[in-house]
Amino acid sequence: MQGIVEILKGKLADMLETLKQIVEKESPTLDKELTDQLASFIANLFEDLTSGKASIIQNDLYGNHIRGEFGSGEEQILLLTHYDTVWQKGDIKEKIPFKIEGDILYGPGVFDMKGGIVQGLYALQALKETNQFLNKKVVFLCTSDEELGSPSSQKLIEEEAKKSKYVLVLEPPISKQGALKTARKGVGIFKLHIKGRAAHAGVEPEKGISAILELSKQVTYLHELTDYSKGTTVNVGKISGGTTVNVIAAEAEADIDLRVKTKAEFERIIPIIKNLKPKTAGVDVKVAGGINRPPFERTDQVISLFNIAKKIARDHLGINLEEKETGGGSDGNFTAPFAPTLDGLGAVGDGAHALNEHIIISEMPKRSALLALLIKELAN
Ligand SMILES: [Zn+2]
Repeated sequence: MQGIVEILKGKLADMLETLKQIVEKESPTLDKELTDQLASFIANLFEDLTSGKASIIQNDLYGNHIRGEFGSGEEQILLLTHYDTVWQKGDIKEKIPFKIEGDILYGPGVFDMKGGIVQGLYALQALKETNQFLNKKVVFLCTSDEELGSPSSQKLIEEEAKKSKYVLVLEPPISKQGALKTARKGVGIFKLHIKGRAAHAGVEPEKGISAILELSKQVTYLHELTDYSKGTTVNVGKISGGTTVNVIAAEAEADIDLRVKTKAEFERIIPIIKNLKPKTAGVDVKVAGGINRPPFERTDQVISLFNIAKKIARDHLGINLEEKETGGGSDGNFTAPFAPTLDGLGAVGDGAHALNEHIIISEMPKRSALLALLIKELAN
């Protein structure tokens, strides 16, 4: 009987055809009609390819989610994917057509993360066809709103993570070298609102209190909270304020992005941001917001999970698998507090959210095999 690696190499043409179908069904996060269509398609595909059972989880606001179950067993391994993309309806025609050039495949969402979905489905199919005995079931969760920060799927993801021994996230690996992601920073998002007092800038400027001046001081202070040695960064990414040129500005606002490596760092820095003190007499400073995604920390359990993958990659695929940390968040941030999580197990390529978004075709069967062998190892 053929091994998993050979079987998957032989399925490359099928994988590409399936990927084409999934990519041609465009899935902008905010288009419920399109996303629901793709959700039904993926649910059917899951059942056809893996002989598992898929259910559609209805969602009022965004596309429906899909939960597939493969195999049986008390314990479970969670495969985490999302099918929404940042691309809009029609982009496949106008901006980034599905096309193959040599070993490179372009298309909206192929890298983030439709290529990963396909690799995941075929990995399960290969496990089925080689009659692998797994004493844990695999839950394949495919959600619809990751690109928005998972407002409607976060709870579901956390609930499944709590029930799981391991979580494998099929987001793309780090571009080019294909390194897995063993740590992701936590993300905090805040809105700063400043109230000053309006006055005519020429007639009685002394009666005004400029919210913009106060904002500029606060922005400087916030950026100084960045500490690269700790991996903590604060960025004011958007500001607004004032009404017109000859009025002392009564109001100003700023959007703040905070990234940290550890929960402890969140506990240190969030109170500082939430309790910003006015730097000018008479202004009112308010901060709303908080944690958007908790940090995915590189714990000992994460390291040993990575080492299992590294050994499989070396012994079966001749790949020297590396690990990296990233400041970007994923749904892995939501699972990491509950179960050892390994991220970046999706398609190798580059250009997420960009016009050159692509994957490397010859890597698809290898990464799919890596996943199948990893599931096999973890399920025993
Ligand atoms: Zn993604």
